[in-house]
Amino acid sequence: MITAGEDEARRLDAADPGHRHLFQVPPAPEGAHPGSYPELAYFAGNSLGLPPRASRDEVLAELDAWARLAVEGHFTGERPWLSYQERLAGPLARLVGARPGETVVMNALTVNLHLLMVSFYRPAGRRTRIVIEDSAFPSDSYAVRSQARHHGLDPDETVVRLRPRPGEEHLRTEDVVGYLGEAGDSVALVLLGGINYLTGELMDIPAITRAAHRAGALAGWDLAHAAGNVPLDLHGWDVDFAAWCSYKYLNAGPGAPGGVFVHQRHLDDPAVNRFEGWWGNAPATRFEMAPVFRPPADAQAWQLSNPPILALAPVRTSLEIFDSVGMAALRARAQRLTGYLERLLDEITPTRPITVVTPRDPARRGSQLSLRIGLGTAADLTKRLHHEYGVLADDRQPDIVRLAPVPLYSTYHDCWRAVEALARLVEETGPR
Ligand SMILES: *Cc1c(COP(=O)(O)O)cnc(C)c1O
Repeated sequence: MITAGEDEARRLDAADPGHRHLFQVPPAPEGAHPGSYPELAYFAGNSLGLPPRASRDEVLAELDAWARLAVEGHFTGERPWLSYQERLAGPLARLVGARPGETVVMNALTVNLHLLMVSFYRPAGRRTRIVIEDSAFPSDSYAVRSQARHHGLDPDETVVRLRPRPGEEHLRTEDVVGYLGEAGDSVALVLLGGINYLTGELMDIPAITRAAHRAGALAGWDLAHAAGNVPLDLHGWDVDFAAWCSYKYLNAGPGAPGGVFVHQRHLDDPAVNRFEGWWGNAPATRFEMAPVFRPPADAQAWQLSNPPILALAPVRTSLEIFDSVGMAALRARAQRLTGYLERLLDEITPTRPITVVTPRDPARRGSQLSLRIGLGTAADLTKRLHHEYGVLADDRQPDIVRLAPVPLYSTYHDCWRAVEALARLVEETGPR
């Protein structure tokens, strides 16, 4: 059906195997044809990553420590819970390009966005606006609108939604920079997605951060789709703060605790207020139970509560994998896999109502290609891809299908299966 054949995909997999053996790949659904492929071709790792095999033992070890040690597990055992965060700090800092003390794993993403805005959204005088992208993930939109309301401001006036130019799919960096140049003195905070969840566009984080700072605003980033997907240098780029989840490219399991970055310059700034809780104290003074909070100069000061160890265990497994493989190697494989998927799609799209809406420049995207489907609904198509072909993609209303080939575990053969199935399911309508 497509020129580039299955044999080529198999050859590429043999030459460039990735780390699939570290992961559990779900079986293809019963009755999916062609039924000769026992595993799912999984393309939804940008929504929920697959489980590393090691995470099961990691969780069981903590359950056993609890049974064996009970409350003493905070202080003794192989990985005392009191200092569990410290085991995550190094690998997490390397993953996102942070200095020691600039990161912490806690809560969930939207919760963390709120906690960070408590500290870093400080509307004053004319400078009240929050800049987001119009196609921001809905939770981010709700978060900033409710923060505006919390400060007694009208969300419709306070939240600025930047749109691509008419007829274009992506927000241009120059247009974000241009807006900040013109209206920057009214902007308190720029809060964009590092990679847009819908189009897969990778924003120019350093350029937009610089433009925000030139305008006198702060720059926060939602890295839900960027963490574990593209190399990041948050400290070097001078990002003020960032938050991300651990269940997408980071593979730490459904609802896994998220990550937070706060730039060093804010860590010991007395002007930065935060909501306080006992776990934000330094481990050495936490149990002094003092009535007044004395925050350490560390992102861990943003913690409110003692962390869920059973949920952190898979985060630890995941960060170890990223630390040993390295983001540079993953990025290189991601570009090879995504480029291969793109080449196969380019063979079938000229005669079918399918358009790739993700940027074509590999430097401006991560491991995701979003397709606009011009016939039928994207939801029907993803259902048929799954049930009839064992290809698990996802859809976003009304007409977007997202395919995320994940460099840790996806294969060239998965990509071939996806495009082969798309070619069969979306009928040719002739050259476009
Ligand atoms: C996945 C995602 C979320 C999800 O938020 P949770 O609080 O983890 O449920 C939020 N924002 C963006 C941009 C996302 O991609």
